[in-house]
Amino acid sequence: MTAKVHVKKGDTVRVIAGKDKGKSGEILQVLPRENRVVVEGVNVVKTHRRPTREMMQGGIVEQAAPIAASNVLLQCPSCGEASRTGKRLLADGRKIRYCKKCGDNVDR
Ligand SMILES: [Zn+2]
Repeated sequence: MTAKVHVKKGDTVRVIAGKDKGKSGEILQVLPRENRVVVEGVNVVKTHRRPTREMMQGGIVEQAAPIAASNVLLQCPSCGEASRTGKRLLADGRKIRYCKKCGDNVDR
């Protein structure tokens, strides 16, 4: 069984551990099977590319590499804090996330 990742694509998160601690960025990709996420501008590594038909030059490309999902916390759009989220059940049956620091809904 795969663990559910607590954040999703498009979320803005803050890195709370590791070499990029303190940085924040948008989630570009979630890898649920590895419980890892790719965050814009975080854990950027240089990869060497061979020339392809589309990109004749090849060379060095900077790319964000996955980090452990447990190393990031959602950055609340309301209070701007990196916070844990809870779930709230709406009257229409939708489950949305809310910020445990300010109580505001994170999902719309
Ligand atoms: Zn908040």
